[in-house]
Amino acid sequence: MIVIMRNDATREEIIKLIEKIEKEDCKVSVVQGEKQCVLGLIGDTTRIDPSKIEAKEFVERVTKVQQPYKLANRLFHPEDTVIKVGDETIGGNKLAVIAGPCSVESESQIIEIAKKVKESGAGFLRGGAFKPRTSPYSFQGLKKHGLELLKIAREETGLPIVTEIMSPDMIDDFERDVDIIQVGARNMQNFELLKQLGRTNKPILLKRGLSATIEELIMSAEYIMSEGNEKIILCERGIRTFETYTRNTLDLSAIPAIKRLSHLPVIVDPSHAAGMWWMVEPLSKAAVAVGADGLIVEVHNDPENAKCDGQQSIKPERFKSLMEDLAVMANIEKKVI
Ligand code: PEP
Ligand code: MN
Repeated sequence: MIVIMRNDATREEIIKLIEKIEKEDCKVSVVQGEKQCVLGLIGDTTRIDPSKIEAKEFVERVTKVQQPYKLANRLFHPEDTVIKVGDETIGGNKLAVIAGPCSVESESQIIEIAKKVKESGAGFLRGGAFKPRTSPYSFQGLKKHGLELLKIAREETGLPIVTEIMSPDMIDDFERDVDIIQVGARNMQNFELLKQLGRTNKPILLKRGLSATIEELIMSAEYIMSEGNEKIILCERGIRTFETYTRNTLDLSAIPAIKRLSHLPVIVDPSHAAGMWWMVEPLSKAAVAVGADGLIVEVHNDPENAKCDGQQSIKPERFKSLMEDLAVMANIEKKVI
């Protein structure tokens, strides 16, 4: 529920109303605009009668928030959220590009790729250390050693590192070592993990679940935010449909939809969406055209021999030409890359 105060509401009137609402076990978040004050009621508002609040002289309007999420809701936070990571930002007029291999395989592999993607203008390095694989017999990642190699690549290039967390017991290591913690599609509704990540101060890259609706994705962000961490980047990475030609179906319409519903930045993963390297370039351009705030792209120096997802990884040379084209597109979208 959102309470919009009248322009002429006094400080005392606002404080009195907040105290009254808080007595009903609701938290109140105050947004003081240039002219108007807006109160966001968080928690169970069922005991609050909106008509009684609206009856007050100093209240302009009470709006029931239809969506079940509040902290992630654009209605309550009209400005785009911009997340700062070191010297880089994600959201606003910035087109953030995260690039790197599906998984970290060796020191030379991650460093070579990191240097190449940095040269082409990527702002962040991705690379899985702990890999969620469909088969228990597939390569599971270098785990803690992979994290160490990512740190070396960061030292060599200055690129912030993005890598996936799989369970709450890894949070301490990730909080200490990682710049953006990725929650993969398979963990989008691991609510215990989300809650614990909400108690950290690290930016979280939250990927859409394989069959999750837009509302479910935003509700998962709400889980993290409700614990205090508001630095969330949402990621559309394709969803399961009846189509089998592509690995998933990239839901391009989710981008303008999420941006209308939420103030959080939204990026696109064309690699996992398509599952084919030759689709990465057109889908990346499409994502930028529909307003994505960035991309996460799999880049590998030797895709034919990659331990994971080589078929959907582009080579550094192709990434370079993609970045050149994206710079032109970013300009049309009034963004900088
Ligand atoms: C990944 O980014 O490496 C990954 C496993 O992606 P997703 O969780 O979207 O499948
Ligand atoms: Mn992958």
